[in-house]
Amino acid sequence: MDLSYGSEMEGFREEVLAFLEENWPLKGDEADLPFDRATSLFRERAIAGGYLYRNIPKQYGGSEREPDVLRAQIIREEFGKKWAPLEARGIGTMMLVPTLLERGEEWQKEKFVRPTITGECTWCQGYSEPGSGSDLASLKTRGELVGDDWVINGQKIWTSGAHVADYMFCLVRTEPGESKHAGISYLLIDMKQPGIEVRPLKMMTGSADFNEVFFNDVHTPKDWIVGKRGEGWLVSRTTLKHERNSIGAAAQTRAALGGLVKLAKATEVNGRPALEDASIRQRLAEIEGYVKAHQYSGYRQLTKDGKGEEAGIITMMMKLYSTEIGHKTAKLSMDLIDDQGLLSAGATHLGLQPKSGQGWIGQYMYSLGIAVAGGTANIQRNVIGERGLGLPRDAAANRSSS
Ligand SMILES: Cc1cc2nc3c(=O)[nH]c(=O)nc-3n(C[C@H](O)[C@H](O)[C@H](O)COP(=O)(O)OP(=O)(O)OC[C@H]3O[C@@H](n4cnc5c(N)ncnc54)[C@H](O)[C@@H]3O)c2cc1C
Repeated sequence: MDLSYGSEMEGFREEVLAFLEENWPLKGDEADLPFDRATSLFRERAIAGGYLYRNIPKQYGGSEREPDVLRAQIIREEFGKKWAPLEARGIGTMMLVPTLLERGEEWQKEKFVRPTITGECTWCQGYSEPGSGSDLASLKTRGELVGDDWVINGQKIWTSGAHVADYMFCLVRTEPGESKHAGISYLLIDMKQPGIEVRPLKMMTGSADFNEVFFNDVHTPKDWIVGKRGEGWLVSRTTLKHERNSIGAAAQTRAALGGLVKLAKATEVNGRPALEDASIRQRLAEIEGYVKAHQYSGYRQLTKDGKGEEAGIITMMMKLYSTEIGHKTAKLSMDLIDDQGLLSAGATHLGLQPKSGQGWIGQYMYSLGIAVAGGTANIQRNVIGERGLGLPRDAAANRSSS
């Protein structure tokens, strides 16, 4: 098995390195620019150089390059090593933009893609409802066409970022007579209008990042629909594929393991560095094994993508690996920090917080939630078992996940 990217790609790596050498961090007078300004200036240059937003046409603000998974991977690797800004993250950029590019009307791309990738407008995802999470197709929020507007009534829940979002991409039942899946449409909704009530839900981390959203005669124009009436389920599958991709990146699990090893060096078990303790070493070795498997599954995904084949089940495995490893890593960190963790919510006094900057305890709590977001681990296992291993279908028919 040849895991190298080949001489042409290594030449491209040199080109990326030369670009970074010249442009990040910023130099001269620009070195003192505030971080936000420096980031957006760097991104402008990286777009002009063809390194960021490669799959987005120039007319919508991207750099419009031929799809090339290996080049994209090299950019991620080298930018990551230098902590250079990559594409702005956020639900809009990661999930809505690819969906609009694949299925949106021309005017929708013109109106929404550029401001979303530059961060001028932000989005939230209105899929889950009370009672409709894993069984998402049972959702009940209604949309009725009245004149030139959809009029929407109902409730969403667990809507991340709804309290700050300008818009929502939302699944709404518009064809009540149709079957569960066929009766849903994918609507875009302006969040800044009367009739929308956003109630934050406080989490155990102490912050309130997600919300309940209530719709009371909320309006959205007739043509703010992606795909046709009743095709929302199909459109939502595009969005979820991108959500799982973004949750599953293997580089994050490797970085988390690196942080954990440092923590094991800095903490003690029975008066000795934890890293010298046999049971801790065994747990670290086990996590390392999972990280390796995650990495090699990543190569399989890359190979499929490179051949233009659907990565299918591998994408789900990547999401599952990433959330499982995240949880195992965070759980071991809790055991290492021990009762010192009670002193500080983030245990940042150890000076060893993971890259997310949340502190190990925040990371632990986060690891519980992220295994649920984007489709729970149990549901992922069901689908992997059925489609990957050919096991009999789950008795709970029609379940899916948001
Ligand atoms: C951090 C976070 C952010 C989120 N952000 C958003 C967002 O922005 N927008 C949005 O729409 N939603 C969001 N969600 C909601 C998320 O998509 C749902 O929580 C998820 O799909 C599960 O649905 P549920 O909570 O209704 O749980 P349920 O579907 O009720 O599941 C409860 C438990 O039962 C298990 N279960 C259910 N059915 C089966 C089955 N057939 N076989 C085996 N086990 C099963 C599940 O695995 C789970 O453990 C977010 C959730 C989290 C945690």
